[in-house]
Amino acid sequence: MSSPTERSLVLLKPDAVRRGLLGEILARFERKGLVIEAMELRTMDAELADQHYADHVEKPFYPPLKEFMTSGPLVALVLAGDEAIEVVRAMIGSTDGRKAAAGTIRGDFALSNRENLVHASDSPESAKRELALWFPKL
Ligand code: ADP
Ligand code: MG
Repeated sequence: MSSPTERSLVLLKPDAVRRGLLGEILARFERKGLVIEAMELRTMDAELADQHYADHVEKPFYPPLKEFMTSGPLVALVLAGDEAIEVVRAMIGSTDGRKAAAGTIRGDFALSNRENLVHASDSPESAKRELALWFPKL
C-alpha cells in the first residue's frame, strides 16, 4: 500500500528571517525529501493573521502572537510528500522551543513558546484551509 502524497502549508516565521535561519530550516526539509511546490516572502497583515489563526483569536496569547507574526517578512511555502503533514510536524517539534526535542527545528534553534520559527499545518483539514488562504491559485 502506498502512502498518500500530501501538501502542508508552512511558514518560516519573522524570527527565522531575522535570525538568518531560512537556509538552515529549508535545508532540513529538502534533505528529508519534501518537495517545495511554492515559496514566497510575504508580510502578514492583521486581517490575514486573524484568518490564519482563527482558532486562536480568543486566546490570551493571541495579541502578542499577532504582533510578532506581523512584525516583519516571513516565508510561506507549500511542502509536498508522503504524509507530509505529519512528517513536517514531527520535524518542527512541539510548540515550546524549551521543551521541543533535540533534533527538531524548534528543539535545536528556539528558546521561546512564541518565537518558535516555524508554523506547519496540523491536520489535512487545516492544511486545506491554510493552503486556500495563502496560495489560492495552487
Ligand atoms: P503550533 O504552532 O505548535 O501548532 P499552536 O497552534 O498551539 O502551536 O499555537 C500557535 C502559535 O501560537 C505557536 O506556534 C506559538 O507561536 C504561539 N503560542 C502558542 N501557545 C502559546 C503560549 N502559551 N504563549 C505564547 N505563545 C504561544
Ligand atoms: Mg497550531
